Amino acid sequence: MEEATLVIVKPDGLKKSLTGDILSRLSKAGLRIIGAKVVKVSLELAEQHYHHLKDKLFYKELIKYITGQLHGENRVLALVYYGESAIKKVREIAGTTNPEEAEPTSIRGAYGRILTSGLYENVIHASSNLQEAEREIKLWFEPEEIVYPLYPARITEVSSKKKVWL
Ligand code: UDP
Ligand code: MG
Repeated sequence: MEEATLVIVKPDGLKKSLTGDILSRLSKAGLRIIGAKVVKVSLELAEQHYHHLKDKLFYKELIKYITGQLHGENRVLALVYYGESAIKKVREIAGTTNPEEAEPTSIRGAYGRILTSGLYENVIHASSNLQEAEREIKLWFEPEEIVYPLYPARITEVSSKKKVWL
């Protein structure tokens, strides 16, 4: 089945200049990138993205991690990949959550580490199922930022302030 998945190059990935290598590894899956942008991760976005983990002991540290407070780097690269079994293919290339247990040739196995706090600093995020992918893509991207009619969208009239180039 053709499907979409969200990938986030986390702040450690940017700090360590791993973006090029990560994109090149992911390109081996033969998927299409249908959305991509650099995002400054707000506390609100971080909390919404990881809301299902809020009772975990590592949650506070995880929020610091994704908002860049551990790396002095509050940018991440967000990407949407689309194609046959995209979720599974990307998870395989990413490796398992714990970088010590991940395949050494996977992205997390090659570049991840466990911090002294116990947090898994594992370089990228990848959606783990269809439902999660849809929720995450809708959270990180506006419909017009994705060059494919992925999910139903409607046109709305907005009268809020918008920045335009001078
Ligand atoms: N995480 C952690 N310790 C754990 C589980 C998760 O530090 O025992 C962090 C890790 O950075 C992970 C993120 O929390 O990527 C989200 O956890 P999840 O279980 O969703 O793993 P993922 O889907 O990212 O593999
Ligand atoms: Mg997950």
